Amino acid sequence: MNVMDIFETMEYGPAPEAANPGLDWIKAHQPFGLFINNRWRKPASGQYIESINPGSGKTLTRVAAANSADVDAAVAAARKAFARWGRTPGHVRARYLYALARGVQKHSRLLAVLESLDNGKPIRETRDIDIPLVARHFYYHAGWAQLMESELAGYAPVGVVGQIIPWNFPLLMLAWKIAPALAMGNTVVLKPARYTSLTALKFAEIVQEAALPPGVVNIVTGEASAVGEALVNHPDINKIAFTGSTEVGRSIRRATAGSGKKLSLELGGKSPFVVFDDADLDSVVEGVVDAIWFNQGQVCCAGSRLLVQENVAERLFSKLRARMERLRVGEPLDKAIDIGAIVSPGQLKEIQRLVEQGVKEGATLWQPSWACPTEGYFFPPTLFTNVSPATTIAQVEIFGPVLVAMTFRTPAEAVELANNTRYGLAASVWSENINLALDIAPKIKAGSVWINCTNLFDASSGFGGYRESGFGREGGKEGLYEYVKPAWEIDTTQEAASSNGHVPDASAEDTTSLEEIEAGEEQSTDGWLPPIDRTPKMFIGGKQARPDSGYSRAIYGPDRRLIGQVGEGNRKDIRNAVEAAHKAGGWAFGTTHNRAQILYYIAENLAVREREFARRIVEQTGRSGKDALTEVQATISRLFSYAAWTDKYEGLVHRPPMRGAVLAMPEPIGVIGMACPDDYPLLGFISLVAPAIAMGNTVVIVPSQRSPLSATDCYQVFETSDVPAGVVNIVTGERDLLSKVLAEHDDVDAMWYFGSLEGSKLIELASAGNMKRTWVSYGHSRNWLSREQGEGQEFLREATQVKNIWIPYGE
Ligand code: NAD
Ligand code: MN
Repeated sequence: MNVMDIFETMEYGPAPEAANPGLDWIKAHQPFGLFINNRWRKPASGQYIESINPGSGKTLTRVAAANSADVDAAVAAARKAFARWGRTPGHVRARYLYALARGVQKHSRLLAVLESLDNGKPIRETRDIDIPLVARHFYYHAGWAQLMESELAGYAPVGVVGQIIPWNFPLLMLAWKIAPALAMGNTVVLKPARYTSLTALKFAEIVQEAALPPGVVNIVTGEASAVGEALVNHPDINKIAFTGSTEVGRSIRRATAGSGKKLSLELGGKSPFVVFDDADLDSVVEGVVDAIWFNQGQVCCAGSRLLVQENVAERLFSKLRARMERLRVGEPLDKAIDIGAIVSPGQLKEIQRLVEQGVKEGATLWQPSWACPTEGYFFPPTLFTNVSPATTIAQVEIFGPVLVAMTFRTPAEAVELANNTRYGLAASVWSENINLALDIAPKIKAGSVWINCTNLFDASSGFGGYRESGFGREGGKEGLYEYVKPAWEIDTTQEAASSNGHVPDASAEDTTSLEEIEAGEEQSTDGWLPPIDRTPKMFIGGKQARPDSGYSRAIYGPDRRLIGQVGEGNRKDIRNAVEAAHKAGGWAFGTTHNRAQILYYIAENLAVREREFARRIVEQTGRSGKDALTEVQATISRLFSYAAWTDKYEGLVHRPPMRGAVLAMPEPIGVIGMACPDDYPLLGFISLVAPAIAMGNTVVIVPSQRSPLSATDCYQVFETSDVPAGVVNIVTGERDLLSKVLAEHDDVDAMWYFGSLEGSKLIELASAGNMKRTWVSYGHSRNWLSREQGEGQEFLREATQVKNIWIPYGE
């Protein structure tokens, strides 16, 4: 094809992603073993099953076919690990989950390529949807591990969980299973689907890299009849989490009945995609593409039934056919491809069979004029019109790129048609009339309802079915309850098992003394060189700023030794800082996920410099090295807590006596002025900054007057942690004087003051000008080290204000 042809036709050329990194990884690892106790072992049977590349139909590699002896070994490993893991402090588990999230991100491209090779889904989807959602799931649940002790008080892990997943989102389903299980303190034995084990095996490597304790995650590949049934029937498993077909789900319900095993089932669907005549039809067309041609239609919540209002049906169908004509089916690793390959020849045959059945049943079939590639397993996007609601193709889950369309006349009829199924996984509703859309949404029996959108997933929002689509939720806080039980329900087997295990002590690993630290560092300093003078400046608008006054303030240690100098801040510095904080107001509108990431980065970068920060605390306070390290470590944990809270402080939906809903959403207050307590120079500082910025506020903060150097040292940490300029501004100097300026400032929206009683009064008086909210300590101190007093809901409430958004609905 020459340039002129391309210009004329505007055809896309191929844009292949290299398969080599994936193939090389496979070569280096085959034959694949089973992952038990963080080690690879051969299957007891010595048998292997083939894994194919659906894009070519050729064999990719072979993976181990486990039998019940292997399952026994994996369950025993998980049981042993549970004794410890189930009692590991939440913060420690959070760190492991965080490490898994980072591991997924580090290997994201390899994971994307492997997933496309093994499953046949387009690289565009694995790269931009599956893998990012996997990382997000681990980050989000790291947060719940951190918060479990306070937010799920009274609940305990369930124990050893058997997890069985399907092939349509191999790694994503793994994440949906493993992340919440581990966060809540369970250990797992996971069985990937027969056709798609490779990314799970790559994930096992990530588990090793993250140095998870052996036995916490075990991955056992093989056939459903051998591995799946052995897990379901195993006497030492406390819960089964299953995603797959309704048929198998039903058999698992029967098999586990009366066994006391907890069970969650995420099953099939035949989800309605409801289009009203006032919908934006061009958006609808793109919505349909994402609803039924995403992942070749092999999506449990695919919008597979298009229900359209009669008067716009023909117009929509012709737009749809035009769009279908331009969809591209082909090589999954081609970045310009919309639809990849069907996972297996068996699945392809099943789709073909059901489509033939549809034709026999009298529906009208339409497919694009072009042909699919003949190597590999491909099926064209397909539209059935004139479908009658009782026919097979209108009722049965096809699990392929096949859309069946029906029409309705009134909203009531739309609801009736939408609910005319035994399933209830999801639905989309399309209308430009919000009253209508919100009226319909609660009437559809489905676990997720998307308004003017479709197939949206996030770790924060639970997913799962009504009716024969199963029970239990994955994601959100509701999803956690699938992996816990009331703490008083102590299972005797577990008690016996865990009483001989060690209970790890969180602080046990943190005992390095400062003497040891100093000893290590003395060798590297050349004794005769004078130290380089490090004068901390103020930090305003992301820049280090000299004080307007031109004066410095000397900071002395407890032994009266001069340990540093900080800028003497004044009114002008505060004004500049407030202005910078205002300019950074966009911080409130970033995603909660990004804000959480930044808080985690701060923790990460602080951890790297743990000892340096501990030394600084000793210098300023004369406390012991061990004590100072404890403060730094508590600070890191605090940052984890607020990273966790960032996307979990969510608000409510109220139900006043009317037809409608009220969304009560916590919003940031704006610019918060802050004065730090004197005890705990680092922890006191971060305990104020972290909740405020987590909730989207920007801050102007006056560090401890006596020991400001821990705070000023933090600006280097902020700079390396992607904290946007102006989000945190630090002005050093006389605390009460600077606080008063902040309290009087009309552009400061709230003032937090942790100091004397007189100072508190001063702040409350000065704040009356613009009626800003104040939070003062009246001279009382609190134990900043304790999680009860030093973090949590009280801080989050002070950092937010609730907006109630009233949404009446109904026509
Ligand atoms: P499947 O039910 O055949 O298999 C799912 C998993 O269960 C596989 O790992 C399989 O090996 C295992 N399995 C099969 N028989 C078993 C048995 N008797 N005991 C124990 N384990 C057994 O389904 P599939 O064909 O792999 O996946 C497609 C189905 O999954 C579709 O129906 C789809 O709707 C559903 N699905 C649901 C969700 C959801 O979240 N609700 C998500 C994805 C897929
Ligand atoms: Mn495969």
